[in-house]
Amino acid sequence: GTGTSQDDPVAPDLSRPSIARVYDYVLGGKQHFEIDRRAAQGFIDALPDAPVIAKDNRNLLRRGVRFLVEEAGIRQILDIGSGLPTEGNVHELAHAIDPSTRVVYVDNDPGVLAHGRALLAGDATTAVITADLRTPAAILADPVVTGLLDLSRPYALLLSGIVQHLADDEDPYGIVGTLREALPAGAYMLLSHFLDDDEPRATTLERGFLQGGLGTGRFRRWDEIRRFFDGLEMVEPGLVYANDWRPDAGTPAESPVHTLYAGGVGRKV
Ligand code: SAM
Repeated sequence: GTGTSQDDPVAPDLSRPSIARVYDYVLGGKQHFEIDRRAAQGFIDALPDAPVIAKDNRNLLRRGVRFLVEEAGIRQILDIGSGLPTEGNVHELAHAIDPSTRVVYVDNDPGVLAHGRALLAGDATTAVITADLRTPAAILADPVVTGLLDLSRPYALLLSGIVQHLADDEDPYGIVGTLREALPAGAYMLLSHFLDDDEPRATTLERGFLQGGLGTGRFRRWDEIRRFFDGLEMVEPGLVYANDWRPDAGTPAESPVHTLYAGGVGRKV
């Protein structure tokens, strides 16, 4: 289940908050430290309902994975910015439908590898690597990725809650474009993102991320998020508010942050 040459346990970097740990804290997990909780407080102070965004996003991911495996027939998943293990991990959701589904988790936070390794011991279908979205070609060429996934055959690329952490000057469109162009016909891309639906709360929250010391957290407009899907055929209902994407019995009927998050799934034709 694990694929890396570093075998030393990785000590968490406590000099600054980590996106993965702050997200875990906001989701109600246990893998966070004081510095992360303080960062989270930066945007919870800005908007007390902010933690609901994480829950709505996680719910969208759950429905998206189920669609991809159950309805679209996908059996290989590349999950970039996978986050720390939490309730309802992508490989667990996929394996509940088909245990042979292969999953590679990619995250630049070494804590994800450390925790993932323990979770995935003995699981030959799932691996985790430490790599950065900002070097997409290296991810696609990584021996663990190419060892477990056949990238010439349809797979699902998951970019859930990660692209929002790329600043405008980090070439987010070039990076996502590289990954999108590498998708073979029949592959899918799920992408979810903080949304600036022309409301002041988006600006307030963006400032909260900065104040919390996280540094990144971009709220992009509909047209800016839509551009990430350029050239893909959108799966119904398209790019929509997170909770409007194929809601099911587990989707909250009303969310206080309904208009602050968007997501969708595109298919390469
Ligand atoms: N995908 C999960 C989900 O939607 O529930 C977790 C989302 S969490 C908000 C974002 C994750 O992306 C964190 O675990 C963070 O470490 C990771 N991340 C942020 N920037 C990254 C980068 N440049 N390369 C790789 N991972 C990154």
